[in-house]
Amino acid sequence: MKIRFNRLQTRLTVLYMGLFGIALVLVAIAVVTAVTSSAHRVVRDELTASGAVYNQIWAGRSEQLRQGASVLAQDFGFREAVATNDEATIRSALDNLRARQKVDGAMIVGIDGYVTAAGLNPDEAAIDTLYAGLESGRLDAGVMTIGTGPYQVVAAPIMAPVLIGWVVFVDPLDVGQMQNLESLSAIPLNATVATRATTGWRDMVGAASPLGALLDRQTFNGAAQAVTTRTPEGSAMVLARALPSFDTDAPAVLVLNYPLKRAMKPYEPLFLALAVIGLAGLALLMAGTWVLARGLTRPISALDDAVHRLQQGEHAEVEVGSTDEIGRLAASFNLMAGDIRDREARLTHMALHDQETGLPNRLSLERQAAAHPGVYVAVVGVDRFEVVRNAIGYDSMAQLLSALGGRLATLTEGSAIARVSGGTLGFSFAAGDDAEAIAIADAVCAQAETPVRLSGATVDVSLSAGLARAGKSLSGVDSTVDRAAIALDQARAARRRCSLFDAASYGDPGGNLSLISELMAAVESGDVWMAYQPKHDLRADAITGVEALMRWRHPRRGFVSPDLFIGMAEETGHIRPLTEWVIHQAIADQKILADQGHDLMMSVNISGRLLSDEAFADFALNEVTASGADLCFEITETAVIDNPELALAIIDRFSAAGIKVSIDDYGSGLSSLAYLKRIKADELKIDKAFVLALDESSRDALLVKSTIDLAHSLGLKVVAEGVETATAMALLQGMGCDIAQGYFIGKPMALKDLSERLAAPVGEARTAAA
Ligand code: C2E
Ligand code: CA
Ligand code: CA
Repeated sequence: MKIRFNRLQTRLTVLYMGLFGIALVLVAIAVVTAVTSSAHRVVRDELTASGAVYNQIWAGRSEQLRQGASVLAQDFGFREAVATNDEATIRSALDNLRARQKVDGAMIVGIDGYVTAAGLNPDEAAIDTLYAGLESGRLDAGVMTIGTGPYQVVAAPIMAPVLIGWVVFVDPLDVGQMQNLESLSAIPLNATVATRATTGWRDMVGAASPLGALLDRQTFNGAAQAVTTRTPEGSAMVLARALPSFDTDAPAVLVLNYPLKRAMKPYEPLFLALAVIGLAGLALLMAGTWVLARGLTRPISALDDAVHRLQQGEHAEVEVGSTDEIGRLAASFNLMAGDIRDREARLTHMALHDQETGLPNRLSLERQAAAHPGVYVAVVGVDRFEVVRNAIGYDSMAQLLSALGGRLATLTEGSAIARVSGGTLGFSFAAGDDAEAIAIADAVCAQAETPVRLSGATVDVSLSAGLARAGKSLSGVDSTVDRAAIALDQARAARRRCSLFDAASYGDPGGNLSLISELMAAVESGDVWMAYQPKHDLRADAITGVEALMRWRHPRRGFVSPDLFIGMAEETGHIRPLTEWVIHQAIADQKILADQGHDLMMSVNISGRLLSDEAFADFALNEVTASGADLCFEITETAVIDNPELALAIIDRFSAAGIKVSIDDYGSGLSSLAYLKRIKADELKIDKAFVLALDESSRDALLVKSTIDLAHSLGLKVVAEGVETATAMALLQGMGCDIAQGYFIGKPMALKDLSERLAAPVGEARTAAA
């Protein structure tokens, strides 16, 4: 197990164990000290007592011997034997005495120094020492070394009546005697007698004493004290007591020695028990602290963990296991974490939802698309959103969108509906291919188009949708939702209900910045040319006119849609020179066709902006009068509504100069009968949106039919544009439509192709176009 000291649990455990360990050591020291000093005291007392006992034994023995010697010394016969030097009598008396007193040796030392010995044979040196001691009267009992060993010597004077000598008893101080002393002691001590020779301290058997230095210090200090010292057998308590000695140069001591190891032996079980109890306590404490610390630190660790998780942005909650401070802390933490989570959820919700409708927003849809590459995103727009919103108000508009959102959700089987912008909703869905996606979106829009009931009012809605496929796009528009929104604009521009994002016609908005100057240059270089689309007179069953449509093939970008560059030319003020060029070109081409025998009405599109441009009107009128061309200007109703006075005046001037006026794209914008009446027009072009749908929808058919009737009642010819099928053509003919224009008759084509077409027989041309 790896111990981590940055863990509170480990630190607590170590701290407590450390403290307990120190306490334990202190107790152990106290116990050992107390026990040891008490043991030492016992030993010391015992040694002192044993020393005193030996003194008594010594004194008792000396007294006994002295009395024995005195009895002999006072015996008349013996005194006479000594005085007469009767050796045989002396010897027998000495032997007799030796046996009675149980001593090894006895002798008579005469005042003249003559010695008669029995039981021993003292050397000269010993006799000299003994004599010197006796003669000086210094002592009558003491230790003396005879040969190699120490002896106890006791003397009694022989008075006849004056001192004539001494009776002397000599008894060896041997191991046996010492053992007697040892057996008298309460503790098993070692006793020995040591004497100091010239070569140092010797014990009873003549061996050098290891305690020499101690004995030197202890010998003559009177009050003998036991001291602790080192011996070859280890620490020992030693007591040295001086014994009287005949030889002043060789003092003698009684040495009592007690090894401390022996003294401590009885306490060893106590120490062992103490150690075992200590270790067991330490282990118990460690386990206890560990468990206690874990109980204490586990909630803290859990909190620590939870804080970490919270920092990582995860949701974190801790268990509240108690009511103490930690429990309250955990509860507060949970409360705080909950608050943070709620706030984050609110923020996320706000960031991903529309406040007005409560629906997910654009960002949310974008995320969903990003998470599922390959799905289709539809942006569904309420047509004429601003008009509807101005009519019903912002609040109702939000309700309307919510209601539509609900419908879309049901129709798309629970797909998340988002509000993409003010007037658009969006959703994502899966489809096998583009065609299927368009079909699905188209069907959803169609089914969602029923009127919406709001408080009090019923609002008709018509929807358009743009589609884009989630994933990488080369168009430069990274956002799938943006592409779908552009596709919605593209659908509306093409007057379709539903379009898939078309990168080619969207072009390159960045590149568009330089598009106009490139366009003007292209007019010069010939990259811009005119295409002509036939207009078929249904009554005459012949092509009686053409619409001039501008074409541009960009050297890099390829075909650029007029919807794109005309719009930009209008915005940048280049539409006038461009249109002047078109008029010029159309007049020239009309002449060419006329020369080929085809007299065709030439229709030219005139931007709304130019209807408030007098200078342009002057130019156009000049050109027409000068060339005598037969032109028709196609204008849109909205152009008139923007600045009615000026526009109507200019239109009047055109009309007066013999230029036909056609109202283009009728039905697509805001149609106003009032203006329709005021415009001096010759022709009404029904917008291709209605014509394209003619086959399927009877509603559109009704609309087209009533428009034709209305136009006729105002004295206008009716052109249907966007005729793509024979059915549409037949229907229109049946409704009394005057002219048809569309891919079924012919696509816009170059002048050369138009000439060929016009030259070919009618049936053949129709087949070719189909
Ligand atoms: P527009 O005036 O409505 O022109 C008719 C458009 O419908 C043309 O698109 C034509 O190609 C297309 N079209 C014709 N028959 C059919 C059909 O059967 N089905 C379908 N789906 N479409 C058909 P184009 O050429 O792309 O022109 C787009 C618009 O650009 C024109 O709409 C017109 O507003 C503008 N435009 C083109 N040339 C000029 C011009 O010289 N001057 C001005 N001011 N605008 C022009
Ligand atoms: Ca037109
Ligand atoms: Ca048109």
